[in-house]
Formats: sequence, C-alpha cells, structure tokens
Amino acid sequence: MKRLVVLGGGESGVGTAVLGKKEGFKVFVSDKGNIQKKYKNVLEHFEIEWEEGQHTEDRVLDADLVMKSPGIPDKVPMVQKLVKKGVPVISEIEFASKFTNANIIGITGSNGKTTTTMLTYHLVKEELDAGMAGNIGDSFAKMVAENDFGHYVLEISSFQLDGIVDFKPHIAMITNITPDHLDRYEYQFENYIASKFRIAMNQGNEDYLIYDADDEVIVDWLKRHPVQSTLVPFSLKKEQQFGAWLKDDEIISIVEHKSLKMNRDILALEGQHNVKNAMAASLAALLVNVRKDTIRKSIQTFQGVPHRLEKVLKINHVEYINDSKATNVNATYYALEGIRKPIVWIAGGVDKGNDYGQLMPFVREKVKAIICLGMDNTKLKESFGNVIDLMVETYSMEEAVKVAYKIAERGDSVLLSPACASFDLFENYEDRGDQFKQQIRKL
Ligand code: ADP
Repeated sequence: MKRLVVLGGGESGVGTAVLGKKEGFKVFVSDKGNIQKKYKNVLEHFEIEWEEGQHTEDRVLDADLVMKSPGIPDKVPMVQKLVKKGVPVISEIEFASKFTNANIIGITGSNGKTTTTMLTYHLVKEELDAGMAGNIGDSFAKMVAENDFGHYVLEISSFQLDGIVDFKPHIAMITNITPDHLDRYEYQFENYIASKFRIAMNQGNEDYLIYDADDEVIVDWLKRHPVQSTLVPFSLKKEQQFGAWLKDDEIISIVEHKSLKMNRDILALEGQHNVKNAMAASLAALLVNVRKDTIRKSIQTFQGVPHRLEKVLKINHVEYINDSKATNVNATYYALEGIRKPIVWIAGGVDKGNDYGQLMPFVREKVKAIICLGMDNTKLKESFGNVIDLMVETYSMEEAVKVAYKIAERGDSVLLSPACASFDLFENYEDRGDQFKQQIRKL
C-alpha cells in the first residue's frame, strides 16, 4: 500500500486525505498547528490517522508521496528534508487531477480569481454537469472524492501551481498579474509571474489560455516565454481576431467560428475590471459550447460576490460600498476608477509593501476624505497628506463608519477598499467587511 503523507490539515489537506483513502493509499495527516474540530471529525469518520502541533519526522519522511498544503512555504525544514530525500512533494490540485478525467477550466491571476471563477461557473452550470472548487468553498480533492462531474471550474492560487507536475487544464485563465505574495517568491516579481504561468505549462495547442491582453506584464512574459496553448486574449482597447474586446459599449467575443455580442450594460456588476472578468468567463463558456443565449441570460443574473465592490445600503442618498477583499493596491485601483461619485475612502491595515502612486490621479479627482483604519497609518498619511484636506485616523470599524457618515454628503459614496490586509484589527477580510456592513445597518 502506498503511503501518502498530507502536510496541513485544512480544507485542501483533509480533502486530499479523504480522496487518498478512497483511492487506496495509507494516509497520514500532519499539521504543525492545530486542526479545526470540523476537520478532525472528517478524519475520524474516514478512519484517517492524524497528528497536530508537530511533524513526527520518521513518519513524514517515510512517505511515498507528500501533498503539501498551499499555506506551507517550500523553505520550511520538513519540506526541505523531503525534497533532499527525493520524496515527491505535490499540491492538492496535482493529486486530485490524477483521479478525474473531467474537463478543467483553471483560473488564476492576482485579482479577480474568485469573481471570475464564480461567474464562469454561473455561465456553464446551466448546461453542463459542472462543479466549482479550489480556493473557493470545497477543495478540488474533496469534490473529486465525492462527485463525478464532467467539468470543473477551479480557482487556483500560485501556491497550488508551484506544486504541479502533470496538471493540465483544458482551459486556463490568467486574469492579470500584479505584485502580490512576494514574500513567498524571494521578493522577485519574475518568480511570481513564472508561477502563475505554470497553469499553461502542460497545455498543448488543443488547449486554451485566456488572458488579459491589456496587461503588460502578461504580454511581455508571453513574448519572452511562448506557450504551446492556443492564445485567447481579451482587451478593453484592441480588436481581437480570436478572443474578446470592447467596441463602443459592446462586448464582442469570437472563438472557433462562434461569435457573441452583448451590450456591457446587461452586466449587473459595476466597473471596468468586471467587464474584463465577464469577457474571460464568456470566452470560457463559448469554448465549452454553452449556448449564446444562455451566456447572455446568465451574465445578466450574476449578482457578484460579497466583499468585492458590494453595494451595501443607501442612506440619505449616500451609497455605502464594501470592497474589503481589496487587500492590494491594484484591486483598490479598480474600485476608485469605477466609482463615478465623490468618494469618502476608508483605507489602511497591514501594508504589503504598497506603492500608492498609481492611485494618485483618482484620489486627486474624486476622493474628498480619507479615513485611515489601521494600527499604523504612516504610509497613507505620507502618500496623501498633501493632497487631501481631510484625513482622519480611526482604530475600529464603528469609529470609521461613524466618521464616514458625518463627512459624506448627498450624492457621495462611502467606500471601504483598504488596499491592505486586515489582520491588525480584524480576523480576516470577511470579518472586516461584515463589521462594516453591521455598523452601516446601525446608522
Ligand atoms: P481574488 O480571488 O483573485 O482575490 P476577487 O474576485 O476576490 O479576486 O477580487 C479581489 C479584489 O479585486 C476585489 O476588490 C475586486 O473588486 C477586485 N477585482 C476583481 N476583478 C478584478 C480584475 N479583473 N482586476 C483587478 N481587480 C479586480
């Protein structure tokens, strides 16, 4: 019996363990931290051995195959020892893909993965037996263990891609690439880009790579590192022979002798970035033969994802928008670009080495006040202190929302789009967004 060791007992670890057990491996789950109760219950139920608070070296090194959860960096000593010993260390999507013949649509990028994954799933599930998994909801491994779908729409992080060997989506998507998570890539942007492009590394010309042709990082990389995949670009600016573009207000998509036209106004989501997400999703849907009418109808009914430019309430003609998921400058860029009204902007948190320069034009043009919400707001103050008359520092969501309510006038928008991670004052971005919504409802 082959021995599978799973490092990390979270969503992808436990999913892998369950699938491994089902496929006849002798499975051992080892987590250096604590394993949540709900996951322990699953492991007990399937009679899978596990440990927490440590990695018992002998047992881990005895593995024939190791699945490393995406949160564990390559540089931890246990992983280094495994690599040195020659034990294959793979990611969950690599493992799971060995046990399904389904057609895979794999979606990666720095921003827009979740939105585009959910939208793509929304378009294809009407006509295909499809499942959605990955960084969203259930792990891919768990889905493969429990279902037999013919198609999967997967949200895939660069950490998952770092651990692939044979994984090959029939349709790959790179929404965009901007610097993020550089701490895991030796602070080299090139390493991070290379990691994202691994999504296409096993593709042949019968497979497709959908990507943002307005993204210079992607285009430049493709020039220097050509791929085998059939390229399917989308653009807000340039006409495409094979791909999608925006002409006046019409989204035009052309692939494999199929063409689809939709007015951008039918999209319920706001913002230019969502036009791009809609292009990417409808190209994938066309490629797997979803009917044009279905695509049009489903694009109209997709309501977006919580914490991503989510409209919360209108109070006294002031709109409150929750974009708590904007944990980097690029995501906030699209929020500030998309909103056409004067903005009271709530920003700040844990800065991942932000360069706020690219936001400056929007801040000058539309932002009337900045409410800083973080333990250390020095960088925000340094960047915008000379440009914005009104900057207020706050240390709780209650305070931030009350101040915003006082400042905002009829016709303004109050936008929470922090451009920073949340863990100085909140548990995570969901907690931050939920507290924002709660405080607004109390006004
Ligand atoms: P991810 O899963 O990659 O983090 P999300 O869909 O959760 O992406 O969105 C994260 C943030 O990025 C949100 O603030 C959202 O409004 C913004 N966003 C969504 N799509 C794009 C895009 N195509 N380009 C830039 N920002 C985007």
